Amino acid sequence: MAKYTKRSEDYSKWYNEVIERAGLAEHSDVRGCMVIKPYGFAIWENIKEVLDKRFKETGHSNAYFPLLIPKSYLNKEAQHVEGFAKECAVVTHYRLKNDKDNRLIVDPEAKLEEELIIRPTSETIIWNSFKNWIQSYRDLPLKVNQWANVVRWEMRTRLFLRTSEFLWQEGHTAHTTRKEAVEEAELMLKVYAEFAEQYMAMPVVRGVKTESERFAGADETFCIEALMQDGKALQAGTSHFLGQNFSKAFDVKFADKAGKLENVWATSWGVSTRLIGGLIMTHSDDEGLVLPPKLAPIQVAIVPIYKNEDQLNAISKKVDALRNQLQDKGISVKYDDDDNRRPGWKFAEYEAKGVPVRIAIGPRDLENNKAEVARRDTKEKEIVDWAGISDHISNLLTDIQENLFQRAQTFNAENTTEVDSYEKFKETIEQKGGFISAHWDGTIESENKIKEETKATIRCIPLNNKVEEGKCIYSGKPSKQRVLFAKAY
Ligand code: AMP
Repeated sequence: MAKYTKRSEDYSKWYNEVIERAGLAEHSDVRGCMVIKPYGFAIWENIKEVLDKRFKETGHSNAYFPLLIPKSYLNKEAQHVEGFAKECAVVTHYRLKNDKDNRLIVDPEAKLEEELIIRPTSETIIWNSFKNWIQSYRDLPLKVNQWANVVRWEMRTRLFLRTSEFLWQEGHTAHTTRKEAVEEAELMLKVYAEFAEQYMAMPVVRGVKTESERFAGADETFCIEALMQDGKALQAGTSHFLGQNFSKAFDVKFADKAGKLENVWATSWGVSTRLIGGLIMTHSDDEGLVLPPKLAPIQVAIVPIYKNEDQLNAISKKVDALRNQLQDKGISVKYDDDDNRRPGWKFAEYEAKGVPVRIAIGPRDLENNKAEVARRDTKEKEIVDWAGISDHISNLLTDIQENLFQRAQTFNAENTTEVDSYEKFKETIEQKGGFISAHWDGTIESENKIKEETKATIRCIPLNNKVEEGKCIYSGKPSKQRVLFAKAY
């Protein structure tokens, strides 16, 4: 089997090869849109399952709103339309017909009176419904979430990281007070951050965006930012405090206890299939995909090694009991007794698919009551006694999950640099990459100049920032805190 391109040779080629070899996704013929294959979709389903549970535990209910949004809705919130207008797909007609040469054409007579936008995000259509759902303080807070696809006409697309159509969830909430809405936006950021760290084993920085990086229509955008192995940052999730912008645009008011009418306060928050791109780039190595056990569709693969049917039967019988024990512990197991593939092929396959643990068992292991256990993260192998093997595997999975997180955390620490001069900043961005923590004067001008000259953007103002007097690396003007710069996906 052909070797992978190494990360050090060509990171983006390596990334595409990992996806292809693991069978996660592929480009479709539709510009910028991908096909998510069953193994990739299984990862998305695992992500969904965990997050959906957390959303429900934090008081949200799922709902569904239309894919198509009347153009006039988008127009109601000025910032929002400005931010999204450039990347909207628009439905103009509702029928096709055959022309005289029998070719399908758009029927010019079937022009829609009002054009429809394919949702790039659903604030407008949801707030149009919220208007009917909210009359009094008793109707609040209103907390819904939608699992859906959205379309943003992206110019430069990459599998999972940036596609024109992507899958995501979008939470939309309405509150009586500013304070409650801000707390909601912060809570959902916490949910995202904990998910990234505890399930994806991907360390993140929690922060707020600068004004120029803010979501179109938000008063404040909270975000989690992760660092990939090539030193570029990835915006992994966002949670927006929308102020009263959408409630004013859609005239959504509630009567408070005294009967006075007030505009409601809002949030929205989302994570997308981009998370799978983050997962791939955080952990995978030159041999292919590496998955954290908590999100791996197959946690343990068992490969029998045999020369004849008797041997296979004996192994299968023994493995049956282990499978049951592992499944009882909630561990997903694949016993691969496919006779059409050789063990070597299977080993390579599970390595490429990032299966955390692989067990091989042959006739000699059977005799000795042992099995060979290999872990994907460190590629270490060991011979393990059959007695107690299920506990061993269960502990090993926990260990792999922790090791991946520790490894990524060490990488982040080693690739986060504090700099105090623009010279050093430029040198670090060029030679090392990673997060750069530096003083900034708070102006859009300096932010834009730095971006123009170095391609680095302010990823966020970290939430755990300390006040620290300093000078902006670009303008030399006074600054009260460091912000986090990086080149980003
Ligand atoms: P936003 O609505 O712009 O705040 O984005 C919500 C979430 O979707 C964020 O986590 C983004 O990182 C992610 N996202 C935005 N655009 C894309 C895209 N083109 N492909 C995949 N994910 C995206």
